[in-house]
Amino acid sequence: MRQSQLFAKTVKSYPKDELSFNAQILIKAGFIDKVSAGVYTFLPLGLLTLNKICDIIRKEMNKIGGQEILMPALTPKNVWDQTGRWDNFDALFKLKGVNKKEYALGATHEEIITPLMKKFVFSYKELPVYIYQIQQKFRNELRAKSGLLRGREFLMKDLYSFHISEENLNNYYEKAQDAYFKIFDKCGLKDLTYLTFASGGVFAKYSHEFQTLSKAGEDTIYICDNCRIAVNKEIINEQKICPNCANSRLHKEKAIEVGNIFKLGTKFSNAFNFKYISQEGEQKDVIMGCYGMGPSRIMATIAEIFNDDKGIIWPEAVAPFRFHLISLNQNSQAEKLYQDLKKAGIEILYDDREDSSAGEKFADADLIGCPCRGVVSKKTLEKNSVEIKKRDSAKCEFIKLDKVIEFFA
Ligand code: ATP
Ligand code: MG
Repeated sequence: MRQSQLFAKTVKSYPKDELSFNAQILIKAGFIDKVSAGVYTFLPLGLLTLNKICDIIRKEMNKIGGQEILMPALTPKNVWDQTGRWDNFDALFKLKGVNKKEYALGATHEEIITPLMKKFVFSYKELPVYIYQIQQKFRNELRAKSGLLRGREFLMKDLYSFHISEENLNNYYEKAQDAYFKIFDKCGLKDLTYLTFASGGVFAKYSHEFQTLSKAGEDTIYICDNCRIAVNKEIINEQKICPNCANSRLHKEKAIEVGNIFKLGTKFSNAFNFKYISQEGEQKDVIMGCYGMGPSRIMATIAEIFNDDKGIIWPEAVAPFRFHLISLNQNSQAEKLYQDLKKAGIEILYDDREDSSAGEKFADADLIGCPCRGVVSKKTLEKNSVEIKKRDSAKCEFIKLDKVIEFFA
């Protein structure tokens, strides 16, 4: 991509009412634009990053047997009445359509997926089955002051699993935990992310959160000094010891909930009378699990954690581009390198702007935060080279023009 053509530039200032760091830096770097509290547009750079996160998630969900679908965001009132959540789900956006028919904007999709599965699944032979989507969710969040961490419209990956027994659900629940940690590993967050025994009312015993340490976190967790397990603040009173190793030394940290998994049991299958015929020919309740994760919240979490005073430092797997090539008035040689790298399949942002100063170009590269920056200047061409610097290091090295592709191999 040529930076001269890139829609939306880095900006000097951001809306005064934007108080959260992730939104401030993502707006400045030209990744997102604020529409209203908790509502953002993803600009080209932002969408590249968001899509990379989604692809990482998709790959791991497919590996554990997930099949992707897309459910509607517009959901009729009657299905919410059936579970009693029309009046009890506290952040539901409600609206009226023609003939005063009432709808909610989807805040979660148990009410849609359960009746859907009931249409297709009848026998134990069709179970277990794992269905997911990556989709826009809507929640009328009371406080939407945390940028992408708490959107009123946001992206969620929600997977639902359907089983013939608790044991079968338990096995899959463990598999899903592993898949979640693989995703956080790719996103650079694994070392900071803790499996956390969660709050959550009636589900408390049956749910876990994935909490990533960050001072921007709205949650407080208590981490076991002995193993990689934590307890959410809301259940610390009943759970003063580590649920894994019974150690009583727990320390307090701020964290962001990046994922959340639940054993739903038969709550939703009962509400929709979703049963299957067992091997013995009996009608039995389908047992369910659900597995949520927020790609836009993950993007904000990465921006909160990986940065310095100059800008964002994206982990390679989620960076909008792998390489940011800057030409300092040497567009013919830089152009050739750009074309060669593009042909070699290296994701490259090429700063070919003729009306920007060297200072502006360097500042933009640091702000945008691609993992690797290259400069082609008169000085580097004297050595027939490009000067390469990693975003997270101060060290520069000269790489011969004909060795750059190898450098990225
Ligand atoms: P929180 O306690 O932070 O409100 P939640 O318990 O309501 O989260 P879930 O309903 O389990 O979250 O949603 C699954 C995942 O979706 C969360 O783990 C999080 O990653 C993401 N998510 C939830 N609410 C938001 C939001 N308002 N903005 C962005 N991502 C969100
Ligand atoms: Mg919530």
